[in-house]
Amino acid sequence: MMLLDCPFCGPRDENEFRYGGQAGVAYPANPAGLSDEDWAAYLFVRDNPRGWFRERWFHALGCRTWFTVERHTVTHEIRKAP
Ligand SMILES: [Zn+2]
Repeated sequence: MMLLDCPFCGPRDENEFRYGGQAGVAYPANPAGLSDEDWAAYLFVRDNPRGWFRERWFHALGCRTWFTVERHTVTHEIRKAP
């Protein structure tokens, strides 16, 4: 079990949250100019590090807020994103 520290509700069980994937993936500046390969990379290709990873979480069963944390992908330790 992981405890996620919602910035508004405090520490809560992971079952209250939905995973939102990698944080900081910017929408393309010129979407009409992207090739199919670039679109596929934007939609589906994400980092998969062994270590600290910035990710988005949604407090679905609480305040319904999106927030960013850093999670260690091996130990599942959670810390606030800088
Ligand atoms: Zn919350």
